[in-house]
Amino acid sequence: SVQLGTCRLFSTKQEPVQSTSPGIDKLEFQAETRMLLDIVAKSLYSDKEVFIRELISNASDALEKLRYERLSAQQAGAGASEHQAALEIKIETDKQNRTFTIQDSGIGMTKEELIQNLGTIARSGSKAFIEQMKEKSTGAQDSAIIGQFGVGFYSSFMVADKVEVFTKSANSPDAQGYKWSSDGTGTYEVQPLDSVETGTKIVLHLKMESREFSDEDSILGVIKKYSNFVGSPIYVNGTQA
Ligand code: ADP
Ligand code: MG
Repeated sequence: SVQLGTCRLFSTKQEPVQSTSPGIDKLEFQAETRMLLDIVAKSLYSDKEVFIRELISNASDALEKLRYERLSAQQAGAGASEHQAALEIKIETDKQNRTFTIQDSGIGMTKEELIQNLGTIARSGSKAFIEQMKEKSTGAQDSAIIGQFGVGFYSSFMVADKVEVFTKSANSPDAQGYKWSSDGTGTYEVQPLDSVETGTKIVLHLKMESREFSDEDSILGVIKKYSNFVGSPIYVNGTQA
């Protein structure tokens, strides 16, 4: 483990390294995740729009998980439950604030899931990516490798220098919501937050050179390209794509 200021960091266990203020946990990314993020953030990979495909695909997975759970509950004879939010994806762009936001009303994440899913590398694609990175000899191949494997959620950091995730698990309706945030360098923060909607909202604060993704016109085509594969409606700034 390494030292950050006077605080001890844990590189493998997902333990808080520091509490910046009450209720906020500052955690360190797993070593391999750090390596991947570093490559992703610095990559000159030209096809940066793939982050949209990755985020839509994650939102879609989250919605399908919730759809499945609802069906199972129904089949198990659970009484008609009160209000069920529509299963949908909302994308918002904000040129002024240079943000790209994607929100789904899917399964969401508990605090433990947030830390496990967004702090470590579990997906097979990223694992293979890391293996390739360890073997390769020149930086020139980074782009090819990113393109070949895809890097899931972490591809956000190709275009954003700060990412915020607001999430609340659907599995416990009264559960606490959380905010996860990171600049993609060594650490991320997790804090409980009230008034988070069930599901997940991801806000990308775009790098100057990626500001095109805060422009609706320049992302509509990309979104349409991927929305074909999604079983729930996608709205872009309020209009169905
Ligand atoms: P993969 O989708 O291949 O598992 P990702 O890096 O894209 O890898 O995502 C990592 C994990 O983070 C997902 O498996 C999922 O558990 C969680 N996750 C990401 N986005 C969402 C979301 N919108 N809603 C719920 N969970 C999510
Ligand atoms: Mg994914």
